[in-house]
Amino acid sequence: MADIALEGKSGKVVIKNIGLLLSGNIDQPILEADTIVIFDGIIQAVGKFKDVDTSSAKTTIDVHQTCVAPGLIDSHVHPVFGDWTPRQNQIGWIESTMHGGVTTMVSAGEVHLPGRPKDIVGLKALAITAQRTYDNFRPNGVKVLAGAPIIEKGMVESDFKELAESGVKLLGEVGLGSVKAGNEAREMVAWARKYGIQSTIHTGGPSIPGSGLIDKDVILEADADIIGHINGGHTSLPEKDVCELCEKSSRAIEIVHNGNEKVAIAAAQAAIQLKCPHRVILGTDGPAGSGVQPLGMLRLISLISSMGSIPAELVFCFATGNTAKLRQINAGLIEVGRSADFVFMDRAQHTSGKTLLESVQLGDIPGIGMVMIDGIIRCGRSRNTPPATQIPEVIGH
Ligand SMILES: [Zn+2]
Repeated sequence: MADIALEGKSGKVVIKNIGLLLSGNIDQPILEADTIVIFDGIIQAVGKFKDVDTSSAKTTIDVHQTCVAPGLIDSHVHPVFGDWTPRQNQIGWIESTMHGGVTTMVSAGEVHLPGRPKDIVGLKALAITAQRTYDNFRPNGVKVLAGAPIIEKGMVESDFKELAESGVKLLGEVGLGSVKAGNEAREMVAWARKYGIQSTIHTGGPSIPGSGLIDKDVILEADADIIGHINGGHTSLPEKDVCELCEKSSRAIEIVHNGNEKVAIAAAQAAIQLKCPHRVILGTDGPAGSGVQPLGMLRLISLISSMGSIPAELVFCFATGNTAKLRQINAGLIEVGRSADFVFMDRAQHTSGKTLLESVQLGDIPGIGMVMIDGIIRCGRSRNTPPATQIPEVIGH
């Protein structure tokens, strides 16, 4: 079950009777549409049922007036090989996370590999191997964008060129290797950028024995594309430094579940006050010392919306479209031409919130009724979330 054939195509799929359509687009988080038409995994049309061509569908799904949103994108994970994590010696964590609504994960470095090579040839070989293996292996359809080398002292421009030409598109967290000084990091981040490799920098105190402190001055000087776990992973910089980073840098503000929750709220609110909510992206930083959290993304959305008093429909954009745009991922938005990767949700049974969005703003997490990746149903009612009040129904094959 874990390895769904990549060849399988969805054919024509119609999703109808949508009660709430979250777009993932921070400029217009809710769409006035009740139907999505998909062909072979790609969104073909979004609109009112009467206005779109729903004829001769291979699969029709009646959502029963519940919510459809883009599948969640976890901007910060640490995969290693397959659906196994040595961090907690657990198998099936990616497949289980799909039951938490995650359809794409982005590696911030395969750092948990036992005996991880730190020499330059070895770290490049690992990155290329990780990129290839996850390109070929998608646990229950989840897209894992991996192959994120941890940069070390001694790397030169041609190393970045070689990585890029080999298919590597990401740097692992800058600061987890021997490059910890701002000026050194800045040079390598710029080489990476020159060859189309996106960079993320570790922010805050050491995560585990062996890693170190990266403070705000190093982050500003390095100028990586993403201020990784701005709320610490787990130990945070002082709240005032985090707010200063939001203000002085124009780079992505990444907030993670395995970080300081108080500072998570402060960073999200700072972005709203600075009128740059499009910069906020969410991740888990899992697997982590505190475990594997299949509901980490949903818990973080609910935390930021409830404690930060930010409308839930905006926070869902932090976890979907914002990340897709900043990372050039062809999912995360309900838009013609994007991948049909969706999470179907309803208010959890017996939440005090009267609607899905209200329940999230009150601090509850939604119930998931279905997850779809590339137009293919990957699970029905989630085994991990509290039960959704109403779930979608497949009414025609
Ligand atoms: Zn980190």
